Amino acid sequence: MERKIMEKYLKAGRIGARARELALKIAKPGLNILELAQAVEDLIIKSGGRPAFPVNISINELAAHYTPKADETRVIKPGELVKIDMGIEVEGYIGDLAFTYCSEKNPLIDAANKALASGIRVIRPGVTVGEMGRAIEKPVKDLGLGVIVNLTGHNLDRYIFHGGLSIPNVANDSGHALQDGDVIALEPFISESNGRVEETGVTEIYQYIQDRPVRLASARKILQLSRDKYHGLPFARRWLVKEGITPLGVSLALKQLEAVNAIKPHPVLKEISNKKIAQAEHTIIVGEKPIVITE
Ligand code: MN
Ligand code: MN
Repeated sequence: MERKIMEKYLKAGRIGARARELALKIAKPGLNILELAQAVEDLIIKSGGRPAFPVNISINELAAHYTPKADETRVIKPGELVKIDMGIEVEGYIGDLAFTYCSEKNPLIDAANKALASGIRVIRPGVTVGEMGRAIEKPVKDLGLGVIVNLTGHNLDRYIFHGGLSIPNVANDSGHALQDGDVIALEPFISESNGRVEETGVTEIYQYIQDRPVRLASARKILQLSRDKYHGLPFARRWLVKEGITPLGVSLALKQLEAVNAIKPHPVLKEISNKKIAQAEHTIIVGEKPIVITE
């Protein structure tokens, strides 16, 4: 990897580590999750990065893709598993990290951290993604717990989140080998036993697909923002409200844009039998000496 590119990844990762520290400092029962998301996104921007996607704050059986609404009222309750997943973009180079806050000690969180560490330990050029899955799964099995089998880690590329490679959290027979310079995110999701997620009917996060003619002026404005300001990366409904579009206007425009396939929704994902989930994630540059950029 070119040194200039490496430095941008390292900067994105450093900002992520700082944002994590802030989030863990202010998270406590009673805190409104909009306040938490806002604090994290503000710090990312102040530090010279940009949120590569809206901060996801997914609680308990929600696995991913929840981000607070503009008028969010949910507060953290004691004992809840609060998964905070954030992306930091520096000129398109992305650090992706997640962790779980809980006001009490929780074995799922320990297992998520162990699974992530175990996966990181086996990273080297040539290791297959099947072997990665086995290493991630091992400590979880040993603890008598399970993983969410239909969520995976992934590779990253400039302005691209899921570069086409999935890194499973369970062993499989994939022979695809990691290469020197690959940038990957490992993100085990842990539950009391193996589980699965499904889409809910709630969507707060969307993403640009392509330009399409649309009638509403607000839809044209959102399309332009999603392409030029958010660089084709995911954005939140609440960001659009901040741009001065009314909440109703945002809803109508998003519906129109979705109908013509100009944007796509990222619906909230929930565990199918409402099992509680913990998550941990880091972004790593693959090499003989792997670099965990978000640590
Ligand atoms: Mn993430
Ligand atoms: Mn990720």
